[in-house]
Amino acid sequence: MKKVVKFGGSSLASAEQFRKVGEIIHADKERTFVVPSAPGKRDADDTKVTDMLYACYDLAEQGEDFKNNLQAIKDRYQEIIDGLSLKLSLDDEFKVIGKNFKEKAGSDYAASRGEFLNGIIMANYLGYEFVDAAEVIRFADDGEFDAEVTNEKLRARLKDVKAAVIPGFYGAYADGRVKTFSRGGSDITGSIVARAVKANVYENWTDVSGFLVADPRIIYKPEGIETITYKELRELAYMGASVLHEDAIFPVRREGIPINIRNTNKPDDNGTWIVESTCQKSKYVITGIAGKKGFCAVNIDKDMMNSEIGFGRKVLQAFEENGISFEHVPSGIDTMTVFVHQDEFMHKEQQVVSAIHRLADPDHIDIEGDFALIAVVGRGMKSTRGTAGRIFSALAHANVNVKMIDQGSSELNIIIGVANSDFETAIKAIYDIFVRIQI
Ligand code: ASP
Repeated sequence: MKKVVKFGGSSLASAEQFRKVGEIIHADKERTFVVPSAPGKRDADDTKVTDMLYACYDLAEQGEDFKNNLQAIKDRYQEIIDGLSLKLSLDDEFKVIGKNFKEKAGSDYAASRGEFLNGIIMANYLGYEFVDAAEVIRFADDGEFDAEVTNEKLRARLKDVKAAVIPGFYGAYADGRVKTFSRGGSDITGSIVARAVKANVYENWTDVSGFLVADPRIIYKPEGIETITYKELRELAYMGASVLHEDAIFPVRREGIPINIRNTNKPDDNGTWIVESTCQKSKYVITGIAGKKGFCAVNIDKDMMNSEIGFGRKVLQAFEENGISFEHVPSGIDTMTVFVHQDEFMHKEQQVVSAIHRLADPDHIDIEGDFALIAVVGRGMKSTRGTAGRIFSALAHANVNVKMIDQGSSELNIIIGVANSDFETAIKAIYDIFVRIQI
């Protein structure tokens, strides 16, 4: 049985945090493959090493002196090394990094050094083998992650390795140039390693005890989520619940490996289990609520639209031509509404409107902005009577006007559109009716 354990930046921000991580790893001999992030913030005013590296490389790229910035980064690592009393020097690594910065090795290379160096320290601290992610995580020439080549390389490389540290966040093209995932991408590396070694669980250690039913900035001390399915999580993550990088699900999902989100600062908490499927009922009918502000509704009217084959395609083509992705498309007999992100759409609205006129010949187009979308997600809603009724009566009691409703036939989620200004009130009302007031 193998566990892949990924530790986020705040779990590795200082020697003290490294010690907690060491204890967690040593507490379970199955925790054999470790994926570290770069050191994160030690307190609210601190700067993540990744951000320091980006800033330092910016100077290098502009031909400016970056010596002091690189020294400040080196100091962050030295503090960890000294705090752990390790006999390790990163002098050679920093010489190479300084040289490569001068030669403008690229910002991906620069950012990746955060994980690379932390990986070296972690391997030394644990006595595990260090495996450079650039050797085993492969990107194709078009910049996309190459899942299959990576899986083969990793599997072959780790086949006879008992315990290893593989830095998160980056890999390389076939020619060796380093490339990173998007920010927070160490979560993806952990998932890729879990797939390759066929782990029985992927533990993702961070600074919270898993997912919460709702955003704690809106709900005071919301309940935690014990178990959530990959599908539910996709819906919530898309709407802004951001404990885990949203692409981290895919590699393990194909193998049915569960993800356990855990808190490095509270290792006894069970955290959240993310699973393929479960017969465990969630504690409440809903699993979670998430939402985002800043949407725009484009209403398109055309008499007899329902009988015009291809009308929807033509309307959506107008958005596609302008590079705008749509979120939801609720429709009526003679109307169709397309929800888009306001900030993306704003600059192109007139081009889109004229394209809709040209392609679909509607009677009338009307644009309304400042919408918020709220997703109420839960496998428990399937075949449960009254869920929608409870949501809408709660919203009515809270004086929130519902502008849009969208429920897929999977019955996994209900999307509700409200005015931006009603967003927080609506989330509170939904949380209260399902979590605080149990009936
Ligand atoms: N260090 C990178 C970041 O700050 C990647 C990660 O932490 O997952 O985004």
